[in-house]
Amino acid sequence: MKLRLTKQFDFQMAHTLSAYPGKCRNIHGHNYKLFVAVENEEACDTCTQINYNSGMLMDFTALKSLVENEIIEVFDHAFVVPQDSPYANIENTKKIVLPFQPTCENLLLYFATLLNDKLPEGVRLYSLKIHETETSFAELIL
Ligand SMILES: [Zn+2]
Repeated sequence: MKLRLTKQFDFQMAHTLSAYPGKCRNIHGHNYKLFVAVENEEACDTCTQINYNSGMLMDFTALKSLVENEIIEVFDHAFVVPQDSPYANIENTKKIVLPFQPTCENLLLYFATLLNDKLPEGVRLYSLKIHETETSFAELIL
């Protein structure tokens, strides 16, 4: 058996794709929705309860703090730009230059590296899902 917890986060971010032939090479923004799911590292087929003292796999408050510190506070209201973009040199108070195109797919792979080794003992990252729009999203299953 696996127990899985998911928490949703919302943030706004501007980005541009430097190698894209369409509209997304222009600076534009999205209201992103990020879903972070964690589960118990070891499957347990005979468990009748999780952690006796807390009754929790992971405290939602701790998951919230971790994701806010590592991702939301960094990326919310930031301008995220690939290093080879002509926009990488413009002045911006909250600009993040990345060595890859800031697509949903690449953002998830990067976000996973920010969270992977910071979860409590016995808890692993199960998936990350990010909505760029209501109808377009990417999901990373680890
Ligand atoms: Zn976009």
